[in-house]
Amino acid sequence: MAMKIEHLSYVYSPGTAFEKKALDDVSMEIPNGQFLAIIGHTGSGKSTLIQHLNGLLEPTSGTIYDEGKDIFSEGYSRKDLRSRVGLVFQYPEHQLFEADVLSDVKFGPKNLGLNAKEIEKRALEALEAVGLDSTYYDKSPFELSGGQKRRVAIAGILAMKPRILVLDEPTAGLDPRGRDEILNLVSDLHKTQRITVVLVSHSMEDVANYAQRLVVMAHGKIVFDAAPREVFTHLQELTEIGLGAPQVTQACHMLREEGWDVSPSITRIDEAVRDILYCLKESRRGQEFPKGT
Ligand code: ADP
Repeated sequence: MAMKIEHLSYVYSPGTAFEKKALDDVSMEIPNGQFLAIIGHTGSGKSTLIQHLNGLLEPTSGTIYDEGKDIFSEGYSRKDLRSRVGLVFQYPEHQLFEADVLSDVKFGPKNLGLNAKEIEKRALEALEAVGLDSTYYDKSPFELSGGQKRRVAIAGILAMKPRILVLDEPTAGLDPRGRDEILNLVSDLHKTQRITVVLVSHSMEDVANYAQRLVVMAHGKIVFDAAPREVFTHLQELTEIGLGAPQVTQACHMLREEGWDVSPSITRIDEAVRDILYCLKESRRGQEFPKGT
């Protein structure tokens, strides 16, 4: 088990007029190697939750365990934790500031106090992992496209060799092509580097076909924690908390209401086509060979 969260609650500005309970008794486990998505409406507590994973926030109550150790217990090194749990913030390109791409990616490993050779090696490996070749090394990060800037920011985190990669809304502000590029990159990193991924999103379309598990949050609590297909069968509850499901899933639920025998857990167009064609063939067969003959 990579990490375990037990009965985590968090209150911002306690005892003031601005007091706000952002997390309310959240418990979950993050196994090594999983691709997990945390999804919820704005303000549901996603960012607050992930900032506990690398010890940036300290629980108001409850405990976070890293490989069985309480991360706020005496003697536990939260500095090491921050390199093992790599957090890619929203709009990470706002944190690119070095003159060239390579220097920017070196920033993280430099801070870990590694020697120059190791820093260089890690930076080059990380850039390769995000698909940026040597023609990018000397470029200013500010000359790059939105998706490329985000790749550089992700490389900067990967260069610290995290065990868990946590990404807060990594597709925010990107066009559909940039969005697919980043999601495919994260999916590749999960597969090839066997890295544990925690992807925060408010878009069901984004996570449906990538994540192995969906944790759905509302008002600081976990309301569903299951495989995406299982979660999408609860379309009505998801709609009530303002999330819904991918459009293709919603279309299949509408067809079901009309009596079509399509699966309620469909998330991809090709699956919907398969079920719809099957229903059409069955109904044609029913017309040609009426029941009882
Ligand atoms: P999400 O990431 O799902 O949008 P957040 O974790 O950012 O949700 O916020 C959860 C709740 O905590 C919201 O009601 C938000 O307004 C509140 N909140 C977030 N950050 C702060 C802060 N620094 N001070 C006070 N309240 C905050």
